[in-house]
Amino acid sequence: MNINHLKILFSEEQIQRRIKELGDEMNKFYNGEEVYAICVLKGAVMFTVDLVKHLNMPLKMEFIRLSSYNGGTSTSGKVNAVDISLPDLNGKNVLIIEDIVDTGLTAKFLLDFLNCNFHTKSTKFCSLLDKKVSRLTDIEPDYYGFEVDDKFLIGYGLDYDGYYRNLRYIGYMEKSELE
Ligand code: 5GP
Repeated sequence: MNINHLKILFSEEQIQRRIKELGDEMNKFYNGEEVYAICVLKGAVMFTVDLVKHLNMPLKMEFIRLSSYNGGTSTSGKVNAVDISLPDLNGKNVLIIEDIVDTGLTAKFLLDFLNCNFHTKSTKFCSLLDKKVSRLTDIEPDYYGFEVDDKFLIGYGLDYDGYYRNLRYIGYMEKSELE
């Protein structure tokens, strides 16, 4: 893949502006109540770090690691829980933070896991990006930053074969240019 072929979809400024808006919305909703923010590694790392800086309630950060891509550019259809160790979330406000909801299989896996294991006070799902057109489940994020088309997105946590997570912006490649 040639990085020069990457077309910018969301600039650093657009991303940061939208994250602040999401943070403001969440501050209103939680109204000072404690929150457990669960970052879904690796893709959501940048978004999580920037989002929690805008949250003003008592907050604990947890990190879990799921994978479904096996290094390719489309989901394998099977979600692997690489590390899903979590503290006792009974009676807690849980905010799951994801990079992108695509088919929704990862989100569904995670929400089912939480429902089976805990009676939370509230469970909210936040994703920076929402690829609604690719959905194979009935999952809708409670919060999302931007709706996107069915393109392969790279940057700001989203990788191509492990690379480019460190970009400050989100770009895309035409699928024909990916190989
Ligand atoms: P889902 O389970 O909703 O199909 O996909 C969720 C995961 O697939 C995301 O957390 C992300 O890791 C990966 N994914 C989905 N779409 C894209 C994309 O356009 N680019 C990249 N780099 N990863 C994606």
